[in-house]
Amino acid sequence: FKRLGFAGMVEVALFADILTLKEALEFNQNIVTESDYQLTSCCCPIWIAMIRKVYHELMPHMPGAVSPMVACGRSIKHLYPGAVTMFIGPCIAKKAEAREADVSDSTDFVLTFQEMRDIFECAGIDPASLPEDERDHSSRAGRIYARSGGVSEAVKSTVERISPNRPITVRSSQADGVPACKAMINDLLAGKNHANFLEGMGCVGGCVGGPRAMIPREEGRGNVNRYGEEAVYPTPIDNPYVIELLHRLGFDTVEQLLENSDIFTRIF
Ligand code: SF4
Repeated sequence: FKRLGFAGMVEVALFADILTLKEALEFNQNIVTESDYQLTSCCCPIWIAMIRKVYHELMPHMPGAVSPMVACGRSIKHLYPGAVTMFIGPCIAKKAEAREADVSDSTDFVLTFQEMRDIFECAGIDPASLPEDERDHSSRAGRIYARSGGVSEAVKSTVERISPNRPITVRSSQADGVPACKAMINDLLAGKNHANFLEGMGCVGGCVGGPRAMIPREEGRGNVNRYGEEAVYPTPIDNPYVIELLHRLGFDTVEQLLENSDIFTRIF
């Protein structure tokens, strides 16, 4: 990326870490009876759009948070005023998300992995042959977002870490692919699903099954799991890089993530 002229690269998993922490704190605050439940508000714009348009009555159960892409772009612009930001991933829907009026201040361009591969090829750059560069240190929680079930696991392990003795633990339910997401929500509304944390991903397998991924879904899932296992820190609350970044962004305590913020909050 530096050879192409970029000033730097930030791993979006670091912002998945921060949003995991926010969701875990919200779960801790909001889930106080056996009938309470929370829908994840994080990464997938297809899931968010489905809940907003088809199941709007469930919006009070979805905390108002931005996606890791938006959090990352806004943080970069906050720390480096004037920066131009580009998000790269396997997702086409992110291109539309970046243009949504209330979050369009975060991400100037969105490219897919396949588009990025074409750019590297045209520029004669083979990233695999280049030495590793320094990068940010996300925890396991943030790293596994990219495959289905990852958000639930991340939030569950973080809730257990911040509130080990809470009587109501995370009972998660996940669905991937739009038909499965609809079936999960219909079951919830029919009283047949008793989970208290519901995760939906628009693509089968989650983002590793995204429309512009470059490798087969199962191979991507294996890579994501391996990368998660290599993390030094299990959850964001253990991750000193998350705490330091929050301080740089003006958060003195992690609990301040529960307050409205210009960077991480979204009013749906
Ligand atoms: S699951 Fe698919 S649509 Fe949703 S964010 Fe990931 S790649 Fe995009």
